[in-house]
Amino acid sequence: MAPSASRRGLLIILSSPSGAGKSTLARRLMAWDPTLKFSVSATTRAPRPGETDGVEYFFKSKSEFTAMVAAGEMLEHAEVFGNFYGTPKGPVAAAMTEGRDTLFDIDWQGGQQVRNSDLRHDVVSIFILPPSIADLEARLRTRAQDTDTVIAGRMAKSRDEISHWAEYDYVIVNENIEQAEDEVRTILRAERMRRDRQPGLSDFVRGLNREFDARNPG
Ligand code: 5GP
Repeated sequence: MAPSASRRGLLIILSSPSGAGKSTLARRLMAWDPTLKFSVSATTRAPRPGETDGVEYFFKSKSEFTAMVAAGEMLEHAEVFGNFYGTPKGPVAAAMTEGRDTLFDIDWQGGQQVRNSDLRHDVVSIFILPPSIADLEARLRTRAQDTDTVIAGRMAKSRDEISHWAEYDYVIVNENIEQAEDEVRTILRAERMRRDRQPGLSDFVRGLNREFDARNPG
């Protein structure tokens, strides 16, 4: 029987410039492993067509957002493209205790804050790079949800976001979404098997030793 004591959930941080396929990747990972919990951020940006409050984001006014920060309810928060984004602490703590891994779609500023928090030992951070800048821009344009000015702003921010690639544990070039997904799955499978993430191992090995003794009395 495999060791069964429950481990704490991992905090899986996915960062990338907008358009590198991070949201698609996150959706596919959730479909692959329904026990994964997506961290729904709070934001002051307006909902895009098709976005639902409480699903992609909790849409907040600036004053509501500021009040959450002041009340210490955010694990991390940052300003991105002139809007505020932040991760509410409560659901993350609950998932960790339940042994469920949480997926974060946050930028490098959020990544840094979580990595520097007291939860750092539970973090697995993954940076997604586009295969080229032309590809990145094409993906932003096909998304067709943003105006030209917004797209230009996102492209300018991409360079800044990419400059933080070396702060992450893993880096994936998303040339092909199936392959990128497979690579993230490999990372998660390996991270979950790390010795320090399997709290039941000592008891399990004690059990093996008892079995040795029982088979070889005296
Ligand atoms: P978008 O507006 O396109 O949904 O997201 C813009 C950027 O904000 C993305 O890079 C996304 O990863 C980042 N972001 C989303 N939620 C959070 C959050 O809670 N914290 C931080 N630091 N960044 C976030």
